[in-house]
Amino acid sequence: MTSADAIVIGGGLVGAAIAFGLQRRGVRALMLDEGDIAFRAARGNFGLVWVQSKGVEMPPYAQWTWQSAQGWEQLASELTDLTGLRLDYRRPGGIEIFLSDDEMTEKAERMELLCRHAPHVDYRILERRALGNMVPGLGPDVVGGCYSSTDGHVNPLALLRALHAGFQLLGGTIRSGEKVLEIQQRSHGFQVRTASQSFDCEQVVVACGLGTPALAQQVGLQVPVRPQRGQNLITERMRPFLDLPLSGIRQTAEGSVQLGESKEEVGFDDGTTAACQARIASRAVQTFPHLRHARIVRAWGALRVMSPDGAPIYARSETCPGAYAATCHSGVTLAAAHIQSLAAAIAKGGLPSETSGLGPERFEHVPSV
Ligand SMILES: Cc1cc2nc3c(=O)[nH]c(=O)nc-3n(C[C@H](O)[C@H](O)[C@H](O)COP(=O)(O)OP(=O)(O)OC[C@H]3O[C@@H](n4cnc5c(N)ncnc54)[C@H](O)[C@@H]3O)c2cc1C
Repeated sequence: MTSADAIVIGGGLVGAAIAFGLQRRGVRALMLDEGDIAFRAARGNFGLVWVQSKGVEMPPYAQWTWQSAQGWEQLASELTDLTGLRLDYRRPGGIEIFLSDDEMTEKAERMELLCRHAPHVDYRILERRALGNMVPGLGPDVVGGCYSSTDGHVNPLALLRALHAGFQLLGGTIRSGEKVLEIQQRSHGFQVRTASQSFDCEQVVVACGLGTPALAQQVGLQVPVRPQRGQNLITERMRPFLDLPLSGIRQTAEGSVQLGESKEEVGFDDGTTAACQARIASRAVQTFPHLRHARIVRAWGALRVMSPDGAPIYARSETCPGAYAATCHSGVTLAAAHIQSLAAAIAKGGLPSETSGLGPERFEHVPSV
């Protein structure tokens, strides 16, 4: 396949969701992905479908996140019905744990701020005793938590696999090992060039994570994102003890416990460090003392795709009509909105009204990174 109605550059969570959404609407889509040597947040994330901390100072982001979380149940069933793959999506609510009064006060203030413009995000700040009734096995250092019924979690690798499989089952084409080097505007549409060949399309969507700024620039879009590293630890499989996800600790459907939540500004280094892992493990053991006996079986670092204000960026090119860019650091949570509203709007030649306020023009005075 060397031509398509739309080419989506990037086969991570954002690109795959948009490509799936386009194909589902009858747009003949081709997904070009660099492959294993690229930085790929989609293969190293935590799997939360998380609402309670998103868009505190940015109403459109809070609303977009909420909308996506509401669409997740339908997305999970649709992908499973189509592909036969289990995503292990559950929405039992989620909790952010506090190990100090300061953490609790700060979060309470932030949630109050969030709910001024997003009153539908239900939450409860729980003192230690109430939290203990909900989550057994907490350590003495836990002072409380913030519970929100809007949160959930999923197996993020299964999600990516299902998006790829579903896209292909609907007739979409994936070309892996195709790093896009150049996008050229033609009299009708675009030519997209990789090291091995060129592809033609009417529409092009640049959604390749940390590779986005360089390619988006070629179609007149400034998309300032930077890498931010997060490290993860996985324990051996354990008896079920945690029914709902915490912001940095979740028990997977298989029984292993995923620990994370670090944020490091280390450029394009996706390695791991003993110091950071020790901090993650120590917080986990403070939260659940019985985890001190758990063996860690796997650890990795992965790079978030982070904009200057942490919110997503959606752009439609004025100078190259038909070209778009999309990026975010919550691609699991936003997958439903990307498939439903974003892809629907791109298929019609626009962006959804919900994403106004999430364009790159908000960074005009921020130096590019
Ligand atoms: C540690 C960590 C924890 C996270 N936890 C969560 C979470 O709990 N919940 C949540 O919602 N989100 C989470 N995220 C964020 C989520 O993983 C990302 O938002 C999402 O993966 C971004 O998707 P993407 O497609 O933009 O980028 P990526 O997933 O990085 O994919 C980019 C893709 O583009 C391809 N590519 C790059 N350059 C080119 C090129 N020139 N040509 C062709 N292809 C190219 C790469 O091969 C890659 O497959 C987390 C991220 C990290 C790192």
